[in-house]
Amino acid sequence: FPTSPSEFFDFCKEHNVQQLDLKFCDIFGAWQHCTYPIDMVDDGVFEDGFGFDGSSIRGWQAINESDMLAVPDPSSARIDPFFGTPTVSLIADIYDPITKQAYDKDPRGVAKRGIEYLKQTGIADTCFIGPEPEFFVFDDVRYMSTQRSAMYEIDSSEAAWNTGRSEEGGNLGHKVGYKGGYFPVSPSDTMHDLRSAMVAELQKVGIVVEAHHHEVGTAGQCEIDMKFSPLIQMADQFLWYKYIIKNVAKQHGKTVTFMPKPIFEDNGSGMHTHISLWKGGDPLMAGDGYAGMSETGLHAIGGIIKHGRALIALSNPTANSFHRLVPGFEAPVTLAMSQRNRSASCRIPMYSPSPKAKRVEFRCPDPSACGYLSFTALMMAMIDGIQNKIDPGEPLDRDIYDMTPEELAETNVAPKSLGEALDALEADHDFLTAGDVFSEGLLKSFMEHKREEEIDQIRLRPHPFEFDLYYDC
Ligand code: GLU
Ligand code: MG
Ligand code: MG
Repeated sequence: FPTSPSEFFDFCKEHNVQQLDLKFCDIFGAWQHCTYPIDMVDDGVFEDGFGFDGSSIRGWQAINESDMLAVPDPSSARIDPFFGTPTVSLIADIYDPITKQAYDKDPRGVAKRGIEYLKQTGIADTCFIGPEPEFFVFDDVRYMSTQRSAMYEIDSSEAAWNTGRSEEGGNLGHKVGYKGGYFPVSPSDTMHDLRSAMVAELQKVGIVVEAHHHEVGTAGQCEIDMKFSPLIQMADQFLWYKYIIKNVAKQHGKTVTFMPKPIFEDNGSGMHTHISLWKGGDPLMAGDGYAGMSETGLHAIGGIIKHGRALIALSNPTANSFHRLVPGFEAPVTLAMSQRNRSASCRIPMYSPSPKAKRVEFRCPDPSACGYLSFTALMMAMIDGIQNKIDPGEPLDRDIYDMTPEELAETNVAPKSLGEALDALEADHDFLTAGDVFSEGLLKSFMEHKREEEIDQIRLRPHPFEFDLYYDC
């Protein structure tokens, strides 16, 4: 892949590129794009950028100050696999056209400032991120009705979900049993070929895939794992990941959702985030403390646990996220560390004795998060923990799901709703604004949008389950 503007133009010639698709990310983690015929693109765009109207992007500029610049990063050039016309894709950073400063609400800018800040603190120079996003695959045409039914009940058949629900007089033959898709080989795993097609496209844009498998969820829940990468690259890759997975599904008559809990009483989709800090090529997490962690590593976990409730507003940023963070489905419910316990929020994987493999797995995040914001916030909590030598507390090595409600209440529990998480973020965000990494303005726009456009909007709508509870009142 090209690394400079001149290599970019060679790359375009080599691939007979006709158009440039410019992509950038809003504060809720969604890619936006605008396309230009390649004749409109010259060297200058890598300096001066493309002008666009920022007022139509959620949470960004007011209409009276809406002009913004999108400056493409030449090293992000990839051929977009989903356009009929040969098209090169570039990821842009957002700037203010008057001050020429990086725009404070550009999530990619947050990640860039985060890495600069990490270096300035002298703690480390590299932050590696390895996310494990999970997702559900549904039949495209039946999407709405499947979602509706999912609110009420679990279907006892994976095949029913994958091939159409068993209406009256439908398929009465053998079906894959409830949760039968995890982990047997095909034909029980009905998603293998689809995942393989997704993996092939991910590899074409340079993403290294480590493994793919069916997940525990009934309805074709899947996981495709990427090899760890430096934070900014991984946040870029995560957007490619969602884009490719949704579009390949579409090509196969399927639809994918990354919403964390589409189905009542079934597993949710998480995005466990493995993270480690490095300095001068040396790993900083390994040592002779608990679970083979260094003092630095344990303090980093202390930071995650201390700021966990605020962090979750960015790593689990939808109202739906909180249907997942409940006992019984391998999702974490307490802010504690453990070397084995999958119900704790910070797991220290013990697979490999190598110091290079030593890392923390923060299990709260889900794939509705913006990678730039979620990964950077996690790193910032770790920096704060290291700077202030925060004690992570006692490890929680027993099964949290077996605890009584009283015992559970004594632990540091994760927020139970988006509203609770936003309140925590409002009260605790100095660890994010340190070094001007996150701006107050970004956090304010984020919280305002979440409260007014999501929480309030949900509150205005009677939930279908209320009819079961109250119709006959
Ligand atoms: N789906 C589970 C979650 O919501 C995780 C399953 C796993 O351990 O991979 O976090
Ligand atoms: Mg998984
Ligand atoms: Mg995991």
